[in-house]
Amino acid sequence: MEEIMDLAIIGGGPAGLAAGIYAARARQRAVLFEENLTGGAPALTGTIENYPGFPGGIEGAELVERMREQAASFGLEARTFEPVEFIARAPDGKRLLVRTEKGEYEAWAVILATGMRPARLGIPGEEELLGRGVSYCATCDGAFFRDKEVAVVGGGNSAVEEALFLTRFASRVYIVHRRDRLRADRILQERVLAHPRIEVLWRRVPVEVKGDARVSSLVLRNLDEDALEEKEVQGVFFYVGNIPNSGPVRELAELDEAGFVLTDISLRSSAAGVYAAGDVRAGSVKQVAAAVGEGVTAQMQAQRYVEELLGTSYDRKGP
Ligand code: NAP
Repeated sequence: MEEIMDLAIIGGGPAGLAAGIYAARARQRAVLFEENLTGGAPALTGTIENYPGFPGGIEGAELVERMREQAASFGLEARTFEPVEFIARAPDGKRLLVRTEKGEYEAWAVILATGMRPARLGIPGEEELLGRGVSYCATCDGAFFRDKEVAVVGGGNSAVEEALFLTRFASRVYIVHRRDRLRADRILQERVLAHPRIEVLWRRVPVEVKGDARVSSLVLRNLDEDALEEKEVQGVFFYVGNIPNSGPVRELAELDEAGFVLTDISLRSSAAGVYAAGDVRAGSVKQVAAAVGEGVTAQMQAQRYVEELLGTSYDRKGP
């Protein structure tokens, strides 16, 4: 067993990196665990236009790269490609046990900032044709669909933003939405409705992705006519909601019915010393700017908790 950490941060998206910047500056013994490379969801998105301070927007990947560099410049230790399997109470009854794929650690406090992953719709062909025309990431796979026709399923911000992104490559983008109004921000709605190569297929739900070697069409149910329609497309991108990555604290902290971590106003979960920040937290507004603020709040609350527990204050003692 290694030295006991003050703080284990689980997840290297904006919430985790913001918590890490603050922890490193507070000279906490903090480690950030990330199952992949740090960056989180914004690393896989296009331009972020609503993060304050960047008129004209900033590429998601660049924004999180800057956060990563900033955290590293203060000495934050980030262990990438080290997924956390679970978090439990340590035998002393106070500390937390962090079990990863590579080892077991103890920490006085934990911030869960693991975000969420795309939900599957669960229709025939979706799983079978994954990577062969079915995708959950337009930023990753969009370039494979140059001059092709694609469908984007969903009417939220993700679907609409990624549909706009796909127009860089695809000759035609269909947005398949089950209602007659989009959920996405108004400014994005205006852009898709005005776009000459985007067509919204209202009040339709996908029932099957068809194709042999690759996707060849998407079968839709037209809800008004209760009839099936088939659209020839070479790609289908699903944005039908998300599932929280709360697995590591499932046995430890209270979750809401969808699996998001319940917290109080200090971002404390029901388990002492365990905080949640960003998309994985019940009630988070799922914005990069908000995730950053939540990461900061969680770190400051966690630091106070650890200092009270150990009877020390980094601030008062000084370096
Ligand atoms: P979301 O807002 O939950 O939207 C999911 C979409 O999928 C909805 O339009 C929903 O339809 C549809 N849907 C859900 N289940 C379906 C089913 N079984 N069949 C057909 N359609 C189904 O998810 P999201 O777009 O991934 O966004 C998640 C959060 O991140 C949101 O809070 C969003 O604002 C935020 N976000 C923000 C930005 C930004 O600020 N630029 C970018 C990306 C994401 P209904 O509309 O009928 O429910």
